[in-house]
Amino acid sequence: MKLTPRGRYAPSPTGAIHVGNARTALAAWLSARAQGGAFVWRLEDLDGPRVVPGMAEAARRDLAWLGLDWDEGPDAETGVDRGPHAPYHQSARGAHYEAALERLARAGRLFPCRRSRRDLAGLASAPHGPDHGLDGLPPYPRAWRPGALPEGWLGAATDCALRFRVDDGLVCFDDRVRGRVCEDTAADVGDFVLKRRDGLYAYQLAVVADDLAMGITEVVRGADLLGSTARQIGLIEALGGTPPAYAHVGLVVNERGEKLSKRDGALALGALRDRGARPEAVAGWLGWTLGLLPDPAPCPAADLVARFRWSLVPPGPVVADGALADRLVGNAGWGTRNAE
Ligand code: GLU
Repeated sequence: MKLTPRGRYAPSPTGAIHVGNARTALAAWLSARAQGGAFVWRLEDLDGPRVVPGMAEAARRDLAWLGLDWDEGPDAETGVDRGPHAPYHQSARGAHYEAALERLARAGRLFPCRRSRRDLAGLASAPHGPDHGLDGLPPYPRAWRPGALPEGWLGAATDCALRFRVDDGLVCFDDRVRGRVCEDTAADVGDFVLKRRDGLYAYQLAVVADDLAMGITEVVRGADLLGSTARQIGLIEALGGTPPAYAHVGLVVNERGEKLSKRDGALALGALRDRGARPEAVAGWLGWTLGLLPDPAPCPAADLVARFRWSLVPPGPVVADGALADRLVGNAGWGTRNAE
């Protein structure tokens, strides 16, 4: 039986949606819609202190303006979660994360850890890359794993982080944009945190528990999360699930080659809209950068659905030059510049 494709967009409401976030959201939406699949919106608002009030509502408004719609998640008008897997905001899904932790503990894949980041940083570091999402920390040493744990230890565990006991060996997957990707989680990252000592659930746990619970069959997200995927596949398999298909799309960077940030506020969807940009101008530019249009002329998001193919999407980053905002607003021409 063929599963109905189910894609999702999972923004963290920590800043305004800019053309880079919009490019990822558009690719995720196009992939789901081009297959006649469902599209789910999930709000990744676990990290309370980083959540900026009003950003979740603004993200919804901005992406609806661009022409995206979703079958499950917050209602575009009222913001009330609707769909069979509600709630769709992570801050209300703690029970799912606890259930996943219990399952991992029963399978012997979880252990308590009282080591600090400083303990880890103090180790002579093995080769590792910044994209492992560990802030440059060395892999968690095998020797720090505890021995056998007593039955029911999780219920009594206090004042500790919880770590996932990773499998040895390479984890490989076929990314729809980047081709075959392999990573040795055990060697590069080691056992990683699923719940912090302060009680915060880790992104890796929440995203996996939610994608499984919500029946997600394809994950489309920014290339900055490529280094998380092997860890997530290990977790999914330990939870008895099947990994979804993955597509990591290139980021939009500014002229200095940096990922767009608050400093590039002119490229926020809300700022462009306020200056009079039309949604089809933004969707057309995004569609062009995704390889779906021959030039960056205006095109409604809906008209990109029939053109969408993953094989057309280039893997590299997209440079947003200083004149892009003016061009999208219609105050400057495109000249002869190309996508790269
Ligand atoms: N919340 C993440 C972000 O906003 C995306 C996580 C994911 O798609 O797995 O970048």
